[in-house]
Amino acid sequence: MFRRGLKTELRWLILYLAVVAFIGVSIEKLAVSLVIGLLLYIAWLFYNLHKLESWVLTTRRKSAPKNTLNGIWGEIADDVILLCNRYEKDKQRLQAVVSRVQDMTSALTDGVILVDGRSNIEWWNQAAKRLFDFRQVDLGHKLTNIIRHPDFIQYFEGGNYDEPIELESVRLSGQHLQFQVHRFGIGERMVIVRDITRVFKLELMRKDFVANVSHELRTPLTVVRGYIETLADNDEIPNVWKRAFSQMQDQCQRMTALVNDLITLTKLETDDRDIRQEAVDLLPVIESILADARALSGERNHNIHAKDASDIVILGNEREIRSAISNLVFNAVKYSADGCDISVATHILENEFVIEVTDTGAGIDPKHLPRLTERFYRVDGGRATKTGGTGLGLAIVKHVLLRHDAYLKISSKLGKGSTFSCHFPLDRLVEHNMDIVS
Ligand code: ADP
Repeated sequence: MFRRGLKTELRWLILYLAVVAFIGVSIEKLAVSLVIGLLLYIAWLFYNLHKLESWVLTTRRKSAPKNTLNGIWGEIADDVILLCNRYEKDKQRLQAVVSRVQDMTSALTDGVILVDGRSNIEWWNQAAKRLFDFRQVDLGHKLTNIIRHPDFIQYFEGGNYDEPIELESVRLSGQHLQFQVHRFGIGERMVIVRDITRVFKLELMRKDFVANVSHELRTPLTVVRGYIETLADNDEIPNVWKRAFSQMQDQCQRMTALVNDLITLTKLETDDRDIRQEAVDLLPVIESILADARALSGERNHNIHAKDASDIVILGNEREIRSAISNLVFNAVKYSADGCDISVATHILENEFVIEVTDTGAGIDPKHLPRLTERFYRVDGGRATKTGGTGLGLAIVKHVLLRHDAYLKISSKLGKGSTFSCHFPLDRLVEHNMDIVS
């Protein structure tokens, strides 16, 4: 139960008290002897405690001196030495881990910045130091005082870190950086900064290339189309050639549509995000798109109508909004069987307003929905080619909406029909005479 030192201490105490008691009995002053004996014992205990305390104090200042204490005090000192050695080993192990992690992060080409719960900088790696020219005095300062880009401040303080943001560097013009924040610990954050200048330039080159090729193709295509149309209308052309000319005309039309869509898409991608904003009266825009859709439907006799579409004036670019809605409505005509219902509706919800294009047509298998807005993605290649689609319609819609801070939602049931809805933030609503649907 007791350790060896304590047992010895107890034995000595009993022997000492026996001697004191014997002396007390001999001089007939047992009580007085016991009190004096105990006082002496307490004094001796205090002396040993003092020795242990001085030893522990020396141990705290430098490495543990030789243990010269006896009995239980010696054992306690031995335990302290053991704990000190263990602590020293743990410290060395942790230091090795920390310096290994620091070596690893120094080797990273991405910048890493650690920020505490109060947004103050705690640590950075070499790459971050190079990117932002951090100095020792910046430690403990707010990160947003050093990276002052308004978009970064909004992202960092906004707290939504699902997606990274890409910004042009304030320090070096032409340098593009990607920031991604990760949370860890108690309110701490890690900011990963990646230099994406090369990717950005490549992306720009790709866009320029597509834009240039599309523009260059436009003129020869117009000339070829003109000649083919003239020749196709010529009555002297033998009948065997008539079919060939008609096919050439169709393919020319497809190529023109493709080139036009490519030009639209690259314009949407490369134009400055600050598009010309104007008040767009939606009802006349929807009415004129529906008239065009009825013309496109022709003898296929779709039932095309506006549903709950009241007067709404929104802030945006009329040409782009018209192009997005017409792409959705024309798709509904293209991919719905003859006589199906096609409607355009507008709703104002609590946090957003929605323009909805619904058809009772072929519908889309849910497995295709996530990829539908990708360029040239088609559910059924054969059918899309027959309908004259370019495969770029929904990509254009997505980009237009992005430029209006809006997004596209698609819901569809195979064989039942589809709903494509454009969700705009309420601050784009200028005027309306509709009820808010909760
Ligand atoms: P396309 O020019 O081929 O129509 P889009 O980008 O406009 O290209 O559409 C991509 C694909 O999505 C289409 O090929 C078609 O398969 C499918 N799709 C689009 N709208 C509808 C719809 N209303 N109903 C069924 N399928 C649709």
